[in-house]
Amino acid sequence: MTAIKMRSGNTSRLTVRANLVSVGIALVVASVVLLLYQAVAFRSALYDDASLQASVIAENVSASLMFDDEASMQDVLRSLGRVPYVESLSVYKSDGRLYTRYARPGVTRDEQEEGTLQSTEHRPALSLGDAFVRAPIEHNGHVLGHVVLVATSDLVHRHLAQYACFLGVACLGAMWISSLVMNRMRRRVSEAERELERLARTDPLTNLPNRRTFYEMLEERLASAKDPSRYFGIVLIDLDDFKTVNDTLGHGAGDELLQHVARVLCDTVGGRAIVSRMGGDEFAVTLATSWKRTAVAELAREIGTALCRPATFFGREINVTASVGYASFPDAGDDSGSLITSADIALYEAKALGKNTVVGFSPEMMHAAQRRAYLEAELRKAVDSDALELVFQPQFDCRSGTLVGAEALARWTHKKEGAVSPGEFIPIAENSDLIVLLGRSVLQRACVAAATWNAAWPAVAVRVAVNVSARQLRHPAFVGDVMAALAASGLTPALLELELTESHLIANRETGIAVMNRLRAAGVLLSIDDFGTGYSSLSYLHAFPVNALKIDRSFIERLPEDGQPIVTAILSMAHSFGLDAVAEGVEDPKQLEWLVDAGCDVVQGFLTGRPMPLQQFRELVAKEGEGRARGDSLVCVPDARSAGIVVG
Ligand code: C2E
Ligand code: CA
Ligand code: CA
Repeated sequence: MTAIKMRSGNTSRLTVRANLVSVGIALVVASVVLLLYQAVAFRSALYDDASLQASVIAENVSASLMFDDEASMQDVLRSLGRVPYVESLSVYKSDGRLYTRYARPGVTRDEQEEGTLQSTEHRPALSLGDAFVRAPIEHNGHVLGHVVLVATSDLVHRHLAQYACFLGVACLGAMWISSLVMNRMRRRVSEAERELERLARTDPLTNLPNRRTFYEMLEERLASAKDPSRYFGIVLIDLDDFKTVNDTLGHGAGDELLQHVARVLCDTVGGRAIVSRMGGDEFAVTLATSWKRTAVAELAREIGTALCRPATFFGREINVTASVGYASFPDAGDDSGSLITSADIALYEAKALGKNTVVGFSPEMMHAAQRRAYLEAELRKAVDSDALELVFQPQFDCRSGTLVGAEALARWTHKKEGAVSPGEFIPIAENSDLIVLLGRSVLQRACVAAATWNAAWPAVAVRVAVNVSARQLRHPAFVGDVMAALAASGLTPALLELELTESHLIANRETGIAVMNRLRAAGVLLSIDDFGTGYSSLSYLHAFPVNALKIDRSFIERLPEDGQPIVTAILSMAHSFGLDAVAEGVEDPKQLEWLVDAGCDVVQGFLTGRPMPLQQFRELVAKEGEGRARGDSLVCVPDARSAGIVVG
């Protein structure tokens, strides 16, 4: 950086010098032209004046010449010879003989004088020698002789010398002023350059070095890290739920939170490391070299602890937590690219483990990351070629035991890897735009499937539930995609249910509510998936226009021995908001029994039906239709179960 600055300083100094030289050359050329012009002008003025003097003398001496009065002629010549530039005055008779002459002391007769007599007058414009001027002495039209005046150029020389001095002083003055102006301009330009450079390297919100500077600093540090017994490393920090703060408290609070985090990070690392902002809610810390192998891990843990201390913003106490991933040199990589990738992988693991976690890179993580990258590429191909399958898991009404719907779940069987679990491939898709393509395809196919089973058994009205990821919900085309899928399949909107995850909704509160309102207005049903695992805050429930809550499997699996108070609370909460409660992951008849007694509305689980291929589900719908036509139903409520009728 310093080298760049010095180079730019030298360049601008050279530019100023070059400019000054150009100005100097221009001034010298202009001065020479002016000087030549002046020389011509002075010389021409001298000739004019000398010619006039010579004419006056010729006038005054004509009588003396006519009467051959040399004494009076000498008087006239002497009186006019006092003119400063007159060097000599000679009177020649018409036959060319010298009649009389007046000359300053020390001035001898010049041969050119007689030459002047013979020649017609000619004025050399640029000659710096003496001027020879001739005037005829006439009387009544007869030429009696000639006066030859020799004017010295000394005066012209003196004037030119003075003029040259004046021009020299003027040029020096102009050069001095130009150099002052140019130096001032150079200072301004380099100040502006420095400011631009600073802006290009700093994050304006936190005043920390930005991503570009971070990369440069890391490269510099790696270049100087030759000693293998010394350690350093990088720590990547990603705030948990930053979007929630931005959405719930506004962007002002978000900015303040980022500034707060920047301060906390700088205070924590002190002089040991440099903090940079990578963009968004991501920060990076570059540790200075240390003798301690564990220095990076210790610093990362200190950062994690320092960040999770509560802070007050806009009158509200916020618990800021962050996911922290770190990688040390040379164990996790010996060049900037691999070191950053390692720290990124560790950060990914930290996020996957849940909030407020600090994770250091280990080589096993690299394999997991490579698998993720491989699966992502394979999944993209599978989505492009529509190779994903859909299975349908039935949902039953607890009171009547009727089949009310199915959750569409994506299945992927890879030719080499075999069946890849959605628990593995959905998060991979969610990490990129792939989820938007995958989600769109699932939505279209689920709508077509539901439209066909409902067309076959219109009276049954079995809806289809489709999972929607946060990225899909945020995508501007999402509502349009839903409408298009409904229109293309001909499915009644009330038979489509979209499952949105609680944490996704909180994180995209403003946009989420707007999108949900548009979907509700179109008649589509909405439910909150995995309810209870996210914020479980009552305050937002009334803000979201949903129809149902899906109680997370983790609560259901503890029933009936454990977890009753929570499920009871969720059920009464749902009902008090006028929402249906769906229990998912029901595996045990005792769980089902408890749920039916507690007033749960809908059940879904391995007990009542595993996710099944479309054909199998259509048969289930057909059985349901036939059963209803006969007046009974395929139920899985306790009395039916005792009769041995359990679907799946
Ligand atoms: P989810 O939305 O909570 O889906 C329910 C999951 O619980 C399904 O797992 C289902 O097979 C499983 N399940 C149902 N009943 C039981 C039970 O009684 N016991 C147990 N142990 N499990 C049960 P699956 O199909 O592996 O899906 C996992 C997750 O993947 C889903 O969780 C959902 O979040 C996601 N997912 C699956 N398909 C899609 C999709 O098309 N789009 C999106 N965005 N996510 C999907
Ligand atoms: Ca779901
Ligand atoms: Ca769920």
